[in-house]
Amino acid sequence: STWFSEVQMGPPDAILGVTEAFKKDKNPKKINLGAGAYRDDNTKPFVLPSVREAEKRLVSRGLDKEYATIIGLPEFYNKAIELALGEQSQRLKAKHNATTQAISGTGALRVGAAFLSKFWKGNREIYLPTPSWGNHVPIFEHAGMPVKRYRYYNPKNCNLDFAGMVEDLKKIPETSVVLLHACAHNPTGVDPSQEQWRELSQVFKQRKLYPFFDMAYQGFATGNVDGDAQAVRIFEADGHDFCLAQSFAKNMGLYGERAGAYTVICADEQEAARCMSQIKILIRALYSNPPIHGARIAAEILNNSDLRSQWLKDVKLMADRIIDVRTNLKNNLEKLGSTRNWQHIVDQIGMFCFTGLTPEQVDSLMKDHSVYLTRDGRISMAGVTSKNVEYLAESMHKVTK
Ligand code: PMP
Repeated sequence: STWFSEVQMGPPDAILGVTEAFKKDKNPKKINLGAGAYRDDNTKPFVLPSVREAEKRLVSRGLDKEYATIIGLPEFYNKAIELALGEQSQRLKAKHNATTQAISGTGALRVGAAFLSKFWKGNREIYLPTPSWGNHVPIFEHAGMPVKRYRYYNPKNCNLDFAGMVEDLKKIPETSVVLLHACAHNPTGVDPSQEQWRELSQVFKQRKLYPFFDMAYQGFATGNVDGDAQAVRIFEADGHDFCLAQSFAKNMGLYGERAGAYTVICADEQEAARCMSQIKILIRALYSNPPIHGARIAAEILNNSDLRSQWLKDVKLMADRIIDVRTNLKNNLEKLGSTRNWQHIVDQIGMFCFTGLTPEQVDSLMKDHSVYLTRDGRISMAGVTSKNVEYLAESMHKVTK
């Protein structure tokens, strides 16, 4: 036998598998609704005008390619956390934050998982919503944090099971870590309302639960970066200590540039300094220091008012297109005479729609109609355009008749 003869073939990634099948299909009407990356109305990748301009300015400055520090570029990560908590944040003013640049949202979660795995004094389990982003489970398990679940989604009505969520949260052992999608929940597109966030904040307090926010879509849910940050800001105002993973993949379209940040909001400035020193030690051994190009672009945008206002327009443009195409899809299904209730298509927000299609209906969509999506019935709204929405509605109607 060879060194690795015992290594078994692992399963392919669910979403990448959908893209592979899509690529092989010769049907000119084929649609890819698998991957969660924004597309314009011609199904082309979109580089934000603010990002193009920021890049131009960076190139004209002829910057060098030296290493960043272990925690990245301060002009990036300080602005990143300010974007999340707002310029008026008391905790930032008091320097309670330990913030580091991270390798996009995934890297931020992974650094957070490593930090909690090593230093969390409470119950060493992390609770995820059912369902959650598929990568959450391995990210925490690889770091040695066992994963458990709480109820979140009601498949019957395609909406939030708030009563079930609260009931489950109240049963979670005190001092556990609980992951919350800050906005535009992936894969369901279903978020708590402002009132519900306030109630959740109280439950977290009563039950001594530790919130770990994953904010991968700030601005993408409603087109408003402050509105989309309401969950974290409510928890901050209520005096919680918490941690936060941020990604600039979606809201700046910086997917492959891997720009993100991880923050621990600590009890005081000294605790933040101690946590920061330990996070540095963890990162040094994981990847030494983060990539600089994406962080420079994001910093250029966040630190210059003209670029920043262009960016806010760019985010709104993307969010609005998605909101429009939701209405368009629902209207087309109704026009075709579908008697099913499709209200959730417009009620859900962000990149995804959890359609309620069964795995069998999804299989038929792929096989008979060349419409590609994951078997949980999630469609990436970014793949829907004014040109393919009618064909998509026809196909969805046919498999749900
Ligand atoms: N969290 C959630 C909920 C996500 O949907 C994503 C992107 N699919 C991420 C984190 C991280 O993405 P990235 O590493 O590309 O920033």
